[in-house]
Parts: sequence; structure tokens; C-alpha cells
Amino acid sequence: MRTPLIAGNWKMFKSVADTVRYVKEFRGLVKDVTGVEIVVAPPFTAVHAAAEALRNSNVGVAAQDLYWEREGAFTGEISGAMIREAGAEYVIIGHSERRTLFGETDDAVNRKAQAAIAAGLIPIVCIGETLDQRDRNETFDVLDRQIKQGLDGLTGQQIPELVIAYEPVWAIGTGRNATPAQAQEAHAHIRKRLVQWFGAEAAELCHVIYGGSVKPENARDLVSQPDVDGALVGGASLDVRAFQEIISRSRTAAVGGPV
Ligand code: PEP
Repeated sequence: MRTPLIAGNWKMFKSVADTVRYVKEFRGLVKDVTGVEIVVAPPFTAVHAAAEALRNSNVGVAAQDLYWEREGAFTGEISGAMIREAGAEYVIIGHSERRTLFGETDDAVNRKAQAAIAAGLIPIVCIGETLDQRDRNETFDVLDRQIKQGLDGLTGQQIPELVIAYEPVWAIGTGRNATPAQAQEAHAHIRKRLVQWFGAEAAELCHVIYGGSVKPENARDLVSQPDVDGALVGGASLDVRAFQEIISRSRTAAVGGPV
């Protein structure tokens, strides 16, 4: 069984001081939670402070992006090795905001995924269709292209070390989440493709998490779907109590019983 993974993407919110205040409270709130992998993704500037404040806790740290080169004349960019040194274990790649606002392509996602793995980071690779694409019945084609190109060259051995976040673009930051049935349908399709392209064992072990307006009220129904292995949470993860509640309800959905 896949341990559910709940990750909070803070986007461009929270200073270093805000981050330290949040994680100090948060680590206490979730210290007894078992059976859930918990991750927070602060902005780059706060990754090291978050990792230090979360040392010896059950909460991991993610960066929100990386560049694929190890080092060099790439002003403004951050490498996987730098992120790893700062204390993060995960990195979000190909978030829809990076794809739409910063022109990130599937080829860039692929280079970043390969670089993350080479640096010893767990990539959280985001995929998902826009509303227009869904309305034109292109959802599965879009997902197929993003998986095929984004994960090109990875082996069946590497797939279990990677997380795929299905984030329908129309559900991100809109308050309109996919229904549990819509999420399950997409996740089942993603897993089917993983079986086809990377083998049954790799597909069985790979986490496919859902993102898009996850809140305490809908977390349980979404994470209880058989192919939904957790959540990538944006807005609601900025509030420490809301994020804790999402974790607690997701755990109940996946494992049963209170914390
Ligand atoms: C996200 O940023 O990945 C996300 C899913 O945002 P929100 O939860 O706010 O929709």
C-alpha cells in the first residue's frame, strides 16, 4: 500500500520569519501523525530555515522549482545540489503556474526531473489539463503527452522514487476542486499509462497525488479514492490549522481512525 503524501505548496508566500513561526507550531501539531508523508514547500529563501526548524521531525521540505545544470553562469537559477544542501528532500517540477506564466515546456520538465533525481531529490512532477482542454475531451491526450515527454528516459526503477501530482489547471486556486470521481478517473488513467510505459511494479509503487482547491472539507473524499495517494495543497496549506486538518482527514481516509 502507498503511504499517502500530503504536500503544502506555499507559492510566493511567507518570509523566513513567517516560515519559522509556522513550522515550529506545525511540527508540534503533527508530531504524532503516523502513516502519512508530510511535506512543506516554502519559497527558496526559506528552504534552509524550514529544514533546520524541522530537523528530526516527521515533516519533509520541498523546493518549488530547480534548474537542471549543476552550476554555472545561469543568473537567478538554483540547482538540485544547492536545494539538497539547503536541506530539502523534494522538489516540485512543472507546476501549472510555471508552465503558463513562465513558459515551462515538457522538455524542461523532463530535464528538471532527471536533474532532481541525479541530485538525490524526490521530484513532484505536476501535470494537468486546462478547462478548454477538458471541454474538448482532450484531458487524457494532454496527460499522456505530459507523462510521456516529462518522464522520457526515466527507468522503471526510478518511477517509484517520483511523485506525480495531477492538478487540473481549472481547479488550482479557483475554489472549484475536481470531484472525487473526476480525480479517480484521471488518476486511474495515469496509473494505466505508468503500467504501460514503466511496468506494473513501478506503477504500483508510484505516488499519484491530487492538487486543486483541496480543503479540509473535501480532503477525505478525494484521498479515499483508490488511485489518489495524497494531495498537493496550495492556498489551504498557508494556514497551519487548515493544513493540519487536511492531513488528519486524509489519514483517516487512507488508514482509518483518528490521528
Ligand atoms: C497548487 O498550488 O498546487 C494548488 C493546488 O493550489 P490550490 O490548492 O490553492 O488550488
